Amino acid sequence: MTAQNKVKILIVDDEAEARETIGDFLAEADFGVETTDSGLKALDILKKSSFDIIISDLFMPEMNGIALIKEIKKQGIDTPIIAITGIGTIENAVESMKAGASDFITKPFNISQISLIVEKTLETKKLKQLASESEFYKKLSNSDDLTGLANYRYFKEILQQEIDRAERYNRTLSLMMLDIDNFKSCNDTFGHPVGDLMLKQIASQIKKNTRGIDIVARYGGEEFTVILPETPVEEALVVAERIRDSIDKFVFETEDGEKITHFTITIGLSSFPDKVKSLKELIETADSALYKGKNSGKNCVVLYSD
Ligand SMILES: [Mg+2]
Repeated sequence: MTAQNKVKILIVDDEAEARETIGDFLAEADFGVETTDSGLKALDILKKSSFDIIISDLFMPEMNGIALIKEIKKQGIDTPIIAITGIGTIENAVESMKAGASDFITKPFNISQISLIVEKTLETKKLKQLASESEFYKKLSNSDDLTGLANYRYFKEILQQEIDRAERYNRTLSLMMLDIDNFKSCNDTFGHPVGDLMLKQIASQIKKNTRGIDIVARYGGEEFTVILPETPVEEALVVAERIRDSIDKFVFETEDGEKITHFTITIGLSSFPDKVKSLKELIETADSALYKGKNSGKNCVVLYSD
């Protein structure tokens, strides 16, 4: 292992003997070790470099270990901290855990106990990291890069869940398909970066005018969709009309405040199970209502009727 990718451990203890014993032992086990004799010096070191683990004594002059742990946490440093506490002072160990230490070692220590706690701490750290990464990627793959709305894949997943639920409990859900009118001319006139900015603003207008339970997604290009769970089509019409109206009134601006244009949006609506019996039909009928609206002058809400 090279010095750069060694696991780095900072040891803070006012007693030279303890520092050396732990330090030598961990260095021998191929960890990158740095030691210091006070809490204040430790804070200075932490300003300049980061560590994978901090091992700190609790009884030190000037700044004690509890104060050091609290300060490290306060600064938002999430490095796990192992507290070293004297034997028979278990209440100090409890206090250090409360302050944010992830584990503790009692003095006089057994050296093999240290390596066990260090390994355990590293493992927990790794697990936490993996868990937060998988959350991150999950979130990433569910949302549209440009608008931050749900993406097409996630939309399909949620719509199927909502249809299953509506079927099971004998409920109604509505679906909206929305398409920005004459959007191509915006891209042609102002270019794609401005077009993208407009899409973001329109997405946020749609989101703002829906309810907490509605799921807003980007369907693709300049087309959006809204799932309205537990909502009969008459109520969905009210939400759709509010969205249409808000876009119609909104003045869109570029980042430097230049007023660009006014947009309108056409919306098609359908609902399950009164109009259709499947996910595919629900999308198709909302889409066909949308195109009916496009053909009858745009800037309107059309309810699917067979
Ligand atoms: Mg001490």
